[in-house]
Amino acid sequence: MESTDSAVMDKLVSLAKRRGFIFQSSEIYGGTGSVWDYGPLGVELKRNLRGRWWKAMVHQRDDIEGLDAAILMHPRVWEASGHVEGFSDPLVECRNCHRRFRADDPEIGGDQCPVCGSRDCFTEPRMFNLMFRTFMGPVEDAASTVYLRPETAQGIYVNFLNVLNSARQKIPFGIAQMGKAFRNEITPGNFIFRTREFEQAEMQFFVEPRTDEEWLEYWKGQRMAWIVELGIRAENLRFHEHAPEELAHYAKKAYDIQYCFPFGWQEFEGIHNRTDFDLSRHQEYSGKRLEYFDPVTQRRYLPYIIETSAGIDRTLLVVLTDAYHEEEVEGETRVVLRLHPALAPLKVAVFPLVRKDGMPEIAVEIHAALRAAAIPSFYDDSGSIGRRYRRQDEAGTPWCVTVDGQSTQDGTVTIRDRDTLRQIRVSANAIVEWVSDQLARPYVPPPPSARSASG
Ligand code: ATP
Repeated sequence: MESTDSAVMDKLVSLAKRRGFIFQSSEIYGGTGSVWDYGPLGVELKRNLRGRWWKAMVHQRDDIEGLDAAILMHPRVWEASGHVEGFSDPLVECRNCHRRFRADDPEIGGDQCPVCGSRDCFTEPRMFNLMFRTFMGPVEDAASTVYLRPETAQGIYVNFLNVLNSARQKIPFGIAQMGKAFRNEITPGNFIFRTREFEQAEMQFFVEPRTDEEWLEYWKGQRMAWIVELGIRAENLRFHEHAPEELAHYAKKAYDIQYCFPFGWQEFEGIHNRTDFDLSRHQEYSGKRLEYFDPVTQRRYLPYIIETSAGIDRTLLVVLTDAYHEEEVEGETRVVLRLHPALAPLKVAVFPLVRKDGMPEIAVEIHAALRAAAIPSFYDDSGSIGRRYRRQDEAGTPWCVTVDGQSTQDGTVTIRDRDTLRQIRVSANAIVEWVSDQLARPYVPPPPSARSASG
């Protein structure tokens, strides 16, 4: 990794903490490197991201139903899915410093410990299961062992018939859900990229077996379009098709959507053709028939499944990384998060230019009207106006409204645009309508020439 790239990550981590996006979990106890907490701005960003996904995948479609399955499931689920037997990574330990690594981690390719520098120091690889185990009920024995789900998908498969019948759907149709997943990763890292507790947004689309390849292509296109609509720069996105040796045991064909992170091209969403593997395994292990009866052809069959599987935290890292910009403005460095307004935690900040001459009263009124319309607004009357703008640039707030001397005369205020820095005058009474109107429009990020690269 080049130093400039790790510097970008350091800047992001520090901005995320400074502005209240993301904090290290249990920080006062020294923290843990593998889990993170979302602060006041982070929780809004994450909720907005989840909302965009749910809107596109559930609300705007007739052919997808939502689900919220429990994290704890019957332990047989994980036998049927193959996770008990095969959800493992090869683990090696350095005999000198006792740090543990994934044997397939490219960093230890040269047989040298990346931490203490010893050579030929690794133990033989042993397979390490990534599922977190716990016990259901007061007795801690093998019979009461349960797992924290390592993916949300299995909750969908076991509810396939429940959803099909209750929602009166017909194939092709899908089931979507979002929720926490847990993996005891050997080497978590890169901020929220790889953690042990994370959130997934998964959709399983059930199709007739001979139509699976078409549907895979369709979902590939849909998911790429969704991320591009969030304003992510197309040159930082690409598909990676899994080579035969990369394919998971259940997959016939698979693509990753990758982003060019500061630490290289990496996956943040997968689109997989899982065939009828999952339903046939659950049928076998549960002893319950999970076939679909086609009322038109009068045929029974096990549907194939096309899965779209995204990590919410990883997608949020894509959003933050792509939004992060530094640029020179009037001889000073401006740090700005160019977030899509629909994702921005705060939509507006309201400032009285000075704390006198009737300006605070007008500003308070605008702020209250925005809040009453459920438009997140921030009131700030401290520090120079330039500093107030900078704080909002770092938070990704798209519009700053300033009440000045003229406002007390003619009832107009300025609105400053985060991306273009242009200011317009609008009547104070029209602010709520103006912002609502802007939020309903598609976001057009400024052209590359008007931006400086994030690194
Ligand atoms: P990787 O190869 O990076 O471990 P994977 O191929 O095992 O990922 P999937 O099982 O396909 O990932 O999971 C789907 C999505 O869930 C990933 O694209 C990613 O966004 C997210 N995800 C998986 N593991 C983690 C993790 N440990 N931390 C954060 N997000 C994760």
